[in-house]
Amino acid sequence: MRVAHASEFFRKLVKPTVNSTMNRLLRFDGRVVVVTGAGGGLGKAYALLFADRGASVVVNDLGGTAQGDGRSQMAADSVVDEILKKGGKAVPNYDSVTEGEKIIETAVKKFGRIDILVNNAGILRDRSFVKMTQQDWDIINQVHVVGSFKTSKAAWDHFRKQNYGRIINTSSVAGLLGNFGQANYSAAKSGLVGLSNTLAKEGARYNIHTNTIVPMAGSRLTENILPPELHDALKPELIAPVVAWLCHEDCDENGVVIEAAAGFAAKYQWQRAGGAILRSSLNESVTVESVRDKWSEIIDLSTNADYPTAPEEAMGKLMDALRIQQKGL
Ligand code: NAD
Repeated sequence: MRVAHASEFFRKLVKPTVNSTMNRLLRFDGRVVVVTGAGGGLGKAYALLFADRGASVVVNDLGGTAQGDGRSQMAADSVVDEILKKGGKAVPNYDSVTEGEKIIETAVKKFGRIDILVNNAGILRDRSFVKMTQQDWDIINQVHVVGSFKTSKAAWDHFRKQNYGRIINTSSVAGLLGNFGQANYSAAKSGLVGLSNTLAKEGARYNIHTNTIVPMAGSRLTENILPPELHDALKPELIAPVVAWLCHEDCDENGVVIEAAAGFAAKYQWQRAGGAILRSSLNESVTVESVRDKWSEIIDLSTNADYPTAPEEAMGKLMDALRIQQKGL
């Protein structure tokens, strides 16, 4: 008996439960991934990780400046070269995300399918609102919102037909919380949360999952914003595994917003206060004074807060409020 126990112990030690779900290496063999803006920064880290784990990757990049001027094939080409040298599978695409359908076409033409789409391409045109021009507003919305719409729209039919798809949209703390000098960027980035949340609901029945990543990384977009030590410490490679997990077939998550940076990841979610009923019965009016008098309850998140994730869920509380007013307080 003792010998049998010992040999079992050593077998486990040498072959550490490779087949158990927890220890299985998460791979993307046979999957085709499009990463937009993959010529540098975060997109490059995503493309390298997906390729390293067996995926065929379309490395899209327009190759312009951080403000969206100019173009060059060098950015996408250098990442494709790096993947090929390591024995991975990748092709470049140089189109702007505003012509997203061409990027998806590259995936289908070169690799025969599309399974995963990471909408990552981005630029900045930071200016205080007083100085912001229509052009600053339009170009940011074009690249971030229209670009993510175009690629997602082009991929959607493929995802539906094959009953499988994963989309990542890229938001920002500026989009969730606002930030001085970024009215255009904040609006675009919070717009992407709305796009993701609706695609998550529409895609669920076709096994299409859409999630949002909120990264913070040292890249050329942040080199003049973050102090140099922080810029170096916040490596894009710390975020790529979070994106890869959200895109893996083992991950059930759909419609979540995940902040990732600095070797940390956490979910963000809307919170609604317990709130207040503003009149005692259906026959009464709501007055400005009743709003004033109930204000501390309206904004108090410390008691009875909830976290609705769909309009139907949010409606429940409003129906309860009507019932209470019907009965009379
Ligand atoms: P980056 O400038 O290093 O990479 C963005 C890439 O997108 C560039 O290579 C650029 O050429 C490409 N690109 C720009 N416009 C394009 C277009 N129209 N079509 C195709 N490619 C285009 O920046 P990054 O920091 O890696 O940013 C990646 C994404 O993450 C962006 O959406 C950005 O807004 C977002 N983000 C970054 C941070 C951060 O801390 N770095 C924080 C929040 C959000």
